Amino acid sequence: MRRPVLLFCCVVLAGGILLAEKTRAPKIDPQRMRDTVKYLSSDELEGRGTGQKGGDAAANWIADQFKAYGLKPAGANGSYFQDVPMVGVRSLPATTFAFAPANGAPVELKNLDDYVTSNETQTESADVDAPIVFVGYGITSPENKWDDYKGYDLRGKVALLFVSEPESNDPNFFKGKALTYNGRWTYKFEETARRGAVATLVIHRTDLASYPWEVVRNSWGGERSYLKLDGTPKLEAASWIQLEVARKLVAMGGLNLDDLYKQSQSRDFKPIELPVHLRAHVVSSIRPFASRNVLAMVEGSAADHRRAEAILYTAHYDHFGIDPARAKGDQIYHGAVDNGTGCGILLELARVWAGTKPAPPRSILFAAVTAEEQGLLGSEYLGKHLEQLPVQPILDLNYDALAPIGIPEEVEVSGAERTTFYPEVEKIAKEFNLAIKPDAHPEAGHYYRSDHFSLGRVGIPAFSISEGLKFKGHDLTWGEAQSKDYVEHHYHKPADAFVESWDFTGDAKLASFGYALAQAAATQTGEIKWLPGDEFEKAQRKLTSSEIDAPALFAGQPDLLPIHTEAIVYPPLARQTQITGTVRVRASLSDDGSVGRCDALSGHPLLLQAALDAVRKWRFHAGAVRQFEMKFDFVLTGLSVSEARTTFQVVEPLHVRVLDHPNAVGTTFYSASNH
Ligand SMILES: [Zn+2]
Repeated sequence: MRRPVLLFCCVVLAGGILLAEKTRAPKIDPQRMRDTVKYLSSDELEGRGTGQKGGDAAANWIADQFKAYGLKPAGANGSYFQDVPMVGVRSLPATTFAFAPANGAPVELKNLDDYVTSNETQTESADVDAPIVFVGYGITSPENKWDDYKGYDLRGKVALLFVSEPESNDPNFFKGKALTYNGRWTYKFEETARRGAVATLVIHRTDLASYPWEVVRNSWGGERSYLKLDGTPKLEAASWIQLEVARKLVAMGGLNLDDLYKQSQSRDFKPIELPVHLRAHVVSSIRPFASRNVLAMVEGSAADHRRAEAILYTAHYDHFGIDPARAKGDQIYHGAVDNGTGCGILLELARVWAGTKPAPPRSILFAAVTAEEQGLLGSEYLGKHLEQLPVQPILDLNYDALAPIGIPEEVEVSGAERTTFYPEVEKIAKEFNLAIKPDAHPEAGHYYRSDHFSLGRVGIPAFSISEGLKFKGHDLTWGEAQSKDYVEHHYHKPADAFVESWDFTGDAKLASFGYALAQAAATQTGEIKWLPGDEFEKAQRKLTSSEIDAPALFAGQPDLLPIHTEAIVYPPLARQTQITGTVRVRASLSDDGSVGRCDALSGHPLLLQAALDAVRKWRFHAGAVRQFEMKFDFVLTGLSVSEARTTFQVVEPLHVRVLDHPNAVGTTFYSASNH
């Protein structure tokens, strides 16, 4: 047993944070972090591979720690786990790709040398025969007043585009040299699929991608993991093609790739349809499996809605597992730094928060997430399923790979400067004698490569806390050399193994820093927001919107142009008695655009009534007599709070989630009137 001691009182009080003087918490313990990292990176856990025995064992062990520290389960059915359904997809050698011009013989391409492809729709066989359309960068970005599509209908077609984003030195235009999410290849596949493309060809240019073709070839040659299909549009052939192959392709249409690149820099760019079809036969092996996020929480002490809000800490527990193709004795990817260290910090924070008395007004949520190394998939699932959480995260602090090599005098919090929380971050960093280190390579888009991004993109202010390069007792050159050595010899290699001489006092310092940040965020009365104009500002507005996002709800329905969508009220009696579920209604529009009638199709009568009452007040543009069906999920998340408000999330077109909190029993008019 360890005696609780006063928590960094000087730090907290100097920060001017209004805290009860008697707030007590156990002290963050570097030794416990060390034990965690040593165990998680041991041979016993076999490199914590996603979908492998070692990964599952790690998840169970982390849940056991949460339980031992006295945290409440925050997963499904009173457990510490959130199932993450996944599918492994491997393109098989029987796959073929050809460019077929309007006149002349088709040109066959060579798999892996000329192109790589993956069938995101998760079927064993897919055939594409569709015209190829050059769409520039394939970007729609209202905040940059940029739209490469200009209303072009991409449905059933093949998009050809450049990776990255328009060249810029202007910080107000695609953030200057820094990469925004619009420049990432993941965005290209998502956006073109959303617009109905069946396949997309990303043109690989080493300078734009910031890595050579070999990297693309290696990471796309084997099995790729995806979240199980959830209604999000996907491509039958998500592909990259070599620069020279792209050159030949556009030449088949009498065009020059360098000219097209120049045209792509202009706001006036319009899609160019080539007289060439892609003929693809994509053959894949499909392997469904389940992985798990591990979730736990400390309940807040506020009586109001703040208790239903949470500061979220994330750290991925997965790594690359075992590779039997490697030499015996060198098969385990230990992942000690990446991300045993993040887990060590997460678990210490969990223990300390569980022992913090009294708890802060807001709740504290912990998520050890899976499948980060497979493309941030565990955190993506978490971000897409916030309705499964007992509390609504309002800030995410992520820890990923913090080498325990000394006491940092710098901290990286890239992304924090884009939020209203930044002044607090600056103040607390100062109290910890940590200089905030700016992102050294903003053009590489690191922000989009770790788990905080999965939360950021759905609107939750989110950033990682990591070390800079300056450590106590060393100069900058030493730190740079350590970092270079790690990247060259250990990063994503079996050699990322535990080192006995490691010193965890630095990781403890950054854990304490993260504790102080969460304490401030969990206590402050105001909201934390993405700054105006930020690429995630819109997502945040949707996240907590008390209005229905009508354009998203009727996307792809050209004859349903909404003018007014009355908000739905979660029926108070249904809240009180915790009635949830899905209802379906059918609306018939009169030619003036009003809802002539609205019929109940299925669902609980109380919930149906709420949906019908609202939809009957909706109005659309005048037009023919029309009909549509709508699905509403009524969801109550976790904690009872007396004062709640209904919010809405558009799951997909014609499908909306109505979210609220259960009433605190005995505090409402309804419970009083029952007696
Ligand atoms: Zn990694």
